[in-house]
Amino acid sequence: MIALLKSDASASQIDQLVAWFAGQGYHATCTQAGKKTFVVLDEAAAKLDLGLVESQPLVERAVRLSEAYLLVNRKLHPADSQIAVGTAAVGAGAFACIAGPCAVESKAQLHSIATAVKAAGTAILRGGAFKPRTSPYDFQGLAAPGLALLEEAGRDSGLPVASEIMAVRELPLFEHIDLIQVGARNMQNYELLKELGQLDKPILLKRGPANTLDEFLLSAEYIAAGGNSQIILCERGIRGFEPSTRYTLDFSSIPLLKEKSHLPVLVDPSHAMGQARLVPTMALAAVAAGADGLMIEVHNQPEAALCDGMQAILPETFAALMKKITQLRQVLAADNC
Ligand code: PEP
Ligand code: MN
Repeated sequence: MIALLKSDASASQIDQLVAWFAGQGYHATCTQAGKKTFVVLDEAAAKLDLGLVESQPLVERAVRLSEAYLLVNRKLHPADSQIAVGTAAVGAGAFACIAGPCAVESKAQLHSIATAVKAAGTAILRGGAFKPRTSPYDFQGLAAPGLALLEEAGRDSGLPVASEIMAVRELPLFEHIDLIQVGARNMQNYELLKELGQLDKPILLKRGPANTLDEFLLSAEYIAAGGNSQIILCERGIRGFEPSTRYTLDFSSIPLLKEKSHLPVLVDPSHAMGQARLVPTMALAAVAAGADGLMIEVHNQPEAALCDGMQAILPETFAALMKKITQLRQVLAADNC
């Protein structure tokens, strides 16, 4: 059992509460997570009456919890969270697409794609400047100049921008990036997550390809525990045994994550499928399954892309997909659906 304390609880009041639990025969420890203070009770306290715990003046809410994550847990925060990303909003009814190239390649490339995805209705422009490539001999991204190009494209198009960070030392370069992406490979880079927890800026956390949902949520908890609750989750496929697709898109994670957590859940069908022709179908399926938004790789010349060209859809395909998404969301929102 866990008790969330009122925000004005003083240290001596907390000591008194811990002593009260001890008097009842239960061991209680105080945990600080983000801006919140919790009292965690030992297993034996499972028998304790929730009402009795909640009747203590310091206790805001008491819940029985089997999960290790607190701040991102829906049991302690029943309402959906909405995360603001510049002018965009994600979650709690707000649906948002993040679209753009895998990697920032040039001013002309980014300008062309940004203009097209903006016209098609994307909410956020993406572009990687630090690329996590499997081979060290592949294009690694334009680094700082790439981020500068993305910022410029964001200003020109009026779109907030998202880009992936790979190391703590890159953080100063992300000052003007609206949404910092933690890629699948870094989902368990706890030192990076702790640093991002210190920021007042939204973080897009992608699921690791071999991670369970509880591991994913504990990574989100690392960010929240530092005080930054602006977190968006992104399912991007997990490692399966089927070689026809790059990864296996785990649709079951969408309702499950939304059940376990109040954070918005996006889906990235581009990295999951690895093939452009499969992306629109999977994007629509993700919307039908309840995703709060999508991340989609779009390129004006996929065959010439420096990274992930195979999975990039053309701007016109993206525009057609966005129309279908709007129609599908209208059907899903209809009373008789
Ligand atoms: C990306 O979004 O460019 C990316 C590398 O994705 P992931 O971390 O999901 O592989
Ligand atoms: Mn990519």
